[in-house]
Amino acid sequence: MRELLDLVFPPRCAGCDLPGTLLCERCRSELPLIEPAHACPRCGAPDGRVRCRECHDRAFAFSGARCAALLEPPVSRAVVVLKDGGERRYAVELAHLLAECSSGWLGAHDVLVPVVAAPGAVRRRGFDHAADIARALARLTDTPMERVLHSAPSADQRALGREARFVNRAASFRVRPGHSPPASTVLVDDVFTTGATFDAAARVLIAAGSTRVRVLAVARACT
Ligand SMILES: [Zn+2]
Ligand SMILES: [Zn+2]
Repeated sequence: MRELLDLVFPPRCAGCDLPGTLLCERCRSELPLIEPAHACPRCGAPDGRVRCRECHDRAFAFSGARCAALLEPPVSRAVVVLKDGGERRYAVELAHLLAECSSGWLGAHDVLVPVVAAPGAVRRRGFDHAADIARALARLTDTPMERVLHSAPSADQRALGREARFVNRAASFRVRPGHSPPASTVLVDDVFTTGATFDAAARVLIAAGSTRVRVLAVARACT
């Protein structure tokens, strides 16, 4: 906890601990960025343009994905300090990475929709990190953002194992009452691991009327 507080007040570089900055110039120049031209267009994994090791045997309801960087330091640390350290300024830093990697990929009709975090996590943190990232990205790219999804797990998450919690959460995505999903939706979240969470969210949106769903994630955790 002490370490977290030190990190949060004042900010320190997520890469090298330099005080007074969230990400120093040197660490910024060495980020583990994924080059969109070489990445898998389906899942955003690096070097997946020809035959993607990560997704060739998986079916997704979304039609494409981009990920800004590998889930490695300092990006992984920035994600943790945002979510668990409450350093919400990292949402803006990470949104800058997304703005760069989605340049020329986001279209005029796209609407950003954050993947809603589990209600227990939002209560614990006091904010929804994906909504923070999506809001900052909306400002940077002049793209509309709508919080169309909500999550209402039917079972008590604490009573479930890790795998069951995931299934329960994915099964709990709903379109908010009174909202209709945008025709062309871009889901936004911090990390893309297997794509299963994005797939579950995309299915709900498509069932409710979206005609195209794509995915933007800050970090790609390759399996
Ligand atoms: Zn640094
Ligand atoms: Zn792929």
